[in-house]
Amino acid sequence: MAGIHHFENEELRELATFWSPENDALSLYFGPAKASELAHREEPVRVKEMIQAQLRTLRSGQADDEDVSRIEATVAGMQGNHNFAKVILACRRLGVWREYDLAGDFGSRLDCAQSFAIAPLIAQEESRKRYSIVLADRNTARLLLLEARQLTEQSEALEEEDREKIRTTGARKSVHLERKKEEQAREHFTIVANRLLHFREHGDFDRLIVGCRDEMWPEIEAELHPELQRVLAGRFHIDPGLATHEEIVERAQPIVDESDRREEQELVQRIVGGALSERLGVSGVEGVLDAIEKGEVRTLAWSAKMPENEGVSSCANCGHLERGKLERCELCASEMRWFARPEEALVRHALGNNIEVRMLRHAKLPPPDEIGAWLRFKAEHNTAQALAS
Ligand SMILES: [Zn+2]
Repeated sequence: MAGIHHFENEELRELATFWSPENDALSLYFGPAKASELAHREEPVRVKEMIQAQLRTLRSGQADDEDVSRIEATVAGMQGNHNFAKVILACRRLGVWREYDLAGDFGSRLDCAQSFAIAPLIAQEESRKRYSIVLADRNTARLLLLEARQLTEQSEALEEEDREKIRTTGARKSVHLERKKEEQAREHFTIVANRLLHFREHGDFDRLIVGCRDEMWPEIEAELHPELQRVLAGRFHIDPGLATHEEIVERAQPIVDESDRREEQELVQRIVGGALSERLGVSGVEGVLDAIEKGEVRTLAWSAKMPENEGVSSCANCGHLERGKLERCELCASEMRWFARPEEALVRHALGNNIEVRMLRHAKLPPPDEIGAWLRFKAEHNTAQALAS
């Protein structure tokens, strides 16, 4: 059973620099279908058929027959794949077969080109968030971690000494039974909230989700430190003691999706607003290429389903980028490598340059290119300011 695979930089760099002049590098991204997608998007069977039809076309074209057969067999044999996506990067002629079962949303597609499609991998690697889910009522508390749709129980992390404290506090004074119960509950929530804050401060999770019975929420909320309130993504109603993993994911995932949607919309607003005011945003392939070469880019973003365009060429020697298909670099006359998907050329530039990358699933950047960047600074402005001072 696959866990959450974290790519080493070395591994990504190796995949990024792979180049096959024969145009036979195969990249497969397949499923899994999300329950929320089934109603209004491609059904898994249709996606499978689409990929299989594409493989048949490739068999009579430039791809290696054995690679095609092996991918066909893998896709045909897949039954859900434990909710993991299947990612295969293959080129038999140059001795490469990489097969991964990965957690996350990649969509489904098959590319055959001179390079591997690694932009979805890198985007997923960078944008994946860890959601801490705490389920609490007056007596119990459970802690779980949700990352890329995979749920792990972490209740043992709410240490035994805390449980002990929870059991014994309140017994020290002889107060009225009801008041004692209330005090016990409050102390219990305080202890849980303090543990959560401790985990947050140690970078153990990015966002918080609370599951409890509705009537308990005001008492729990009152104990949440401002930092926990800040990272709180949402809350759902559940009976903490009885909840199964399936129920927890079912209720928490819509909160995660909504949080992702909000974040993407905020990024798009920053980029589009910045581009309109000629400040810290650029929209469209040309603007992004220019900004990347000037080292201005903080976050590179593109729509998951970007329309076809003429692609981007990247110089194998000096890294210069140009829109469209160019044979020779106009700066150093070296060979240019062409990428049909602009984001593939751009993420290779972003690797190791401290640039974040985001593949947008919920929000869209302006057409026709549907690609943009949020900038750290604008070079011209800085020069102008420097001259003025
Ligand atoms: Zn060059």
